[in-house]
Amino acid sequence: MTAPSFKRILLKLSGEVLMGSGQFGIDPATCDRVATEVKEAVETGLEVCMVVGGGNIFRGLAGAAQGFDRASADYMGMLATVMNALAMQNAMEKIGVQTRVQSAIPMASVCEPYVRRRAERHMEKGRVVIFAAGTGLPFFTTDTTAALRAAEMNCDALFKGTSVDGIYDADPKKVPTAKRYDSLSYDRVLADNLKVMDASAVALCRDNNIPIVVFNIRDEGNLSAVLRGEGASTIVQNETIDA
Ligand code: UDP
Repeated sequence: MTAPSFKRILLKLSGEVLMGSGQFGIDPATCDRVATEVKEAVETGLEVCMVVGGGNIFRGLAGAAQGFDRASADYMGMLATVMNALAMQNAMEKIGVQTRVQSAIPMASVCEPYVRRRAERHMEKGRVVIFAAGTGLPFFTTDTTAALRAAEMNCDALFKGTSVDGIYDADPKKVPTAKRYDSLSYDRVLADNLKVMDASAVALCRDNNIPIVVFNIRDEGNLSAVLRGEGASTIVQNETIDA
């Protein structure tokens, strides 16, 4: 897997990545570092769009557990993703990367609304489009959003930047002998209920033949390494020998 094998990718950043070493909120230094790595990727000629999560600020399920109405809590979660998108936009524009934030919940004085054809034009011009506010619908996640936008934008792969360097057969934090898979089929991920993305996101990628590359974005330089086919990751795709 080398950079030239992809023309366009979607990078999904979970909210927790943006916390850095903190327990809550946005760590500006982490945004700056990730922005630098995205810049390096863009400079190779790759077209990049992004979906950012909101779990570092608010998750609908957690809100519902505390007594909020679930749909309202989900809207709060979606608004959290807009904050993260603006933080990443800021970090990237500071270092000269052209970006646009498009929100699935229109907020005209803050960013553009999500318009697929407009996003397409931005990407053709080399701008990084950051998709905010998830799908705009409660009861969904930003993983599903990432799969949906990757399909809509005809991305060659969905890169999921997380805190672990791939998918394991057991929780590597609890089981020291846990084995990381280099590659897996979508069906295996779904059948074994491997916790990588929610099932709807995996199924959407499978049905549209979009490989999912799970990698640790907390390791400095790892995005470039994985794009060059060098870093540790797990790739989920069709017709693969689970290994
Ligand atoms: N959310 C939603 N619809 C969507 C995407 C997100 O309702 O299409 C809400 C949901 O409450 C979720 C929150 O936004 O908990 C933050 O997104 P997510 O949990 O996916 O963020 P991540 O785990 O990637 O940080």
